[in-house]
Amino acid sequence: MDDSHLAMSPSPTCIQRDADLWFPDGNVVLEASGYGFRVYQGLLARDSPFFADLFSLPQPSHAELLEGCPVVHLTDFYEDLRILLRVQLGSGRSSDRDSRLLDGTRIDFPTTDALIRLGRKYQIDGLYNDALDVLKTFLSAQYGSWYEKLPYLEWGRYALDPIAAVNLARLTDTLSILPVAMYLCCQLRTEDLLRGTTYSDGTSQQLSLDDLRRCVDARVFLTREKDAAFERIFDLSASDSCSDSNSCRERLEYRMAIYKKQVTDVTAGWNISGPWLPYVWLKNCSSERGYGEPPLCSHCMALLESQHRDVCTKMWGDLPRYFDLEVSE
Ligand SMILES: [Zn+2]
Repeated sequence: MDDSHLAMSPSPTCIQRDADLWFPDGNVVLEASGYGFRVYQGLLARDSPFFADLFSLPQPSHAELLEGCPVVHLTDFYEDLRILLRVQLGSGRSSDRDSRLLDGTRIDFPTTDALIRLGRKYQIDGLYNDALDVLKTFLSAQYGSWYEKLPYLEWGRYALDPIAAVNLARLTDTLSILPVAMYLCCQLRTEDLLRGTTYSDGTSQQLSLDDLRRCVDARVFLTREKDAAFERIFDLSASDSCSDSNSCRERLEYRMAIYKKQVTDVTAGWNISGPWLPYVWLKNCSSERGYGEPPLCSHCMALLESQHRDVCTKMWGDLPRYFDLEVSE
């Protein structure tokens, strides 16, 4: 086998067998950071030209064997490899179960991240493209589709890391997702933006210096823009059909005071969150969440809905300019 992909390899006897992905009739052991996965050459070769090439090479006479299987040492983090193998070997990619898995409502960002990086490296195009589509949904350059496709609570579940997302956009040359990914980077605390993300295996990643510069510069514009956007979204002066505008205005002020206090309490330093956040927060303050009556009358809520869409659509359109990006997609 081609030695160029091999990491410094633990001897086969030291390999820790993965609890799930160790099939007794598997015919190859993939090893990554000390963990072994006993899987099937044929299934890997079916979906991956990389593995198809690797397995087509004649085995050298000194090949390492574990339980009779050739051992392939990979340089990946084992959790990433486990994610890839689980999805790839799971139950056949064309089944309903897998198409749901990759529809964006099941998988989280760490899974998306691993599938994109390893799917690209091992040329597993189907998984790579499906995972990239999930990321594009979360970072859509069109505000309308971004807002409609993603229930607010999905964000907590998905756990997107904006720094890793920017780097994925660079790695895959998917420029359309850069503006929103960078916008989310700008909402990190300064320390987190500069230090980057640290992972459980001890590795970390930062933005490139050039992308960091784009974010730091853009925060000045975004801070200014945020206050103006806030005013435009929550302006009730055009609510002609409201039957009790004083009451709606008072209730809005009351809610916004709560919102501002909550946001100030949880963010140290820069806060450019929104401008969709305060609106979505207000919209969620309805009776089924235990907040009592809907915050404003239906006419006023409809007005805010349309004002928030106008403001955010314009802001989404302006993001590439703030970040000094040329986005043609
Ligand atoms: Zn009203």
